[in-house]
Amino acid sequence: MLLALLFTALALAGDVDAFLAWADDARPAAEVSARTEPGQPRAAFLPLEDAPTDEDVLDRVSPGYRFAGTFFPQIAAHVHDMPGRVRPERIGTSALGRPIWAFPLQNPDEPIRRKVLVVAGLHAMEWVGTEVAVDLLDDLADSPLPKGVQVTIVPLANPDGRAFVERDLRAGETRYRRGNSRGVDLNRDFAVNREAQAFWRHLIPGYYRTSPGPVSQPETRALDGLAHRERFHRAASLHSFGGFFYTPWSGRFGRPERQDRQELWELGRAMEQAWGTRAYRTRQLGRWGFFFRAHGSEIDHLYGRYGTRAFLIEITRSGIQPLRPKTWKWGFRSYNPERPRRMRKHVDRTVHSLRALITHPDLPSEIEAREANHGVPVPPIDGDEA
Ligand SMILES: [Zn+2]
Repeated sequence: MLLALLFTALALAGDVDAFLAWADDARPAAEVSARTEPGQPRAAFLPLEDAPTDEDVLDRVSPGYRFAGTFFPQIAAHVHDMPGRVRPERIGTSALGRPIWAFPLQNPDEPIRRKVLVVAGLHAMEWVGTEVAVDLLDDLADSPLPKGVQVTIVPLANPDGRAFVERDLRAGETRYRRGNSRGVDLNRDFAVNREAQAFWRHLIPGYYRTSPGPVSQPETRALDGLAHRERFHRAASLHSFGGFFYTPWSGRFGRPERQDRQELWELGRAMEQAWGTRAYRTRQLGRWGFFFRAHGSEIDHLYGRYGTRAFLIEITRSGIQPLRPKTWKWGFRSYNPERPRRMRKHVDRTVHSLRALITHPDLPSEIEAREANHGVPVPPIDGDEA
């Protein structure tokens, strides 16, 4: 036992050094390209040859959004300045070998009674979620956390998909991207409620296509491994767009158990109030619209397998502007509002909502719920017995 703790401590110390070195290497293209050997695979975010600098690109396409080469070094500054409070942990490796980082934040030397997970960037083009996750991390790093609460932030769950979109932006290309490097939609790859049941699947099967198998991708395995170990009480996965706090079930019409439903509703209401006027609304995803379902989603997995009170937040009501065709023809623009003020408003208010999710008082059954059986088949995942 002691030995195991010692090994864990050593591994985590190793993650700090590894992350700081990696983040340094992920800095904007112009700064690091001189150090890159041609043809050598790199874990960081590859620049194209002769690519413009991040600032040039972002001023053109999306003022206010950050490339990974900008926000990871910002996080690294917190890790460096606040050891023990902001901790990097490598939870897995993408299909193309990029590290997947989680950042647990807590007051050092304090027993933890509530664990909250915030994930962003499962879908490659939905950058606004990552903006929220990074701002929340900044916010929590700079102010005291509620007593006994640990918040784990995964700002970029699909680093390969993200790298492709960054490359597209730099090259001025507008290709639609959603999945990982193998084209798998990671938010259809989880284990719970995977099978499409809606009648409409026969008419538009492409919409309901699932993944090769339960948790079949390295990115989803990384998240499941983290959830399996931590058994989070509450969670939010950040997407865009729509303007909703979606609750499980997302892949079926049936409702969760009564007590769970009430607690999900209570947390949803707390997030709505924190958001402010014209707040996003709380809805069960699988009941919203009669053909709209998300099979194999992260929220059904987290709730069904681990009892986590999980929300899928669709940030913004879309970046589409009806009179500007480019905003509806180009996925990146429909997911991420172009106007900085509009983007800031949604990012800031969603950070408020997440703070409400984190700080809302204990719910009657959220502790027991983590071990409950929720009445859905939960397929075993390779390695369960290990
Ligand atoms: Zn999404």
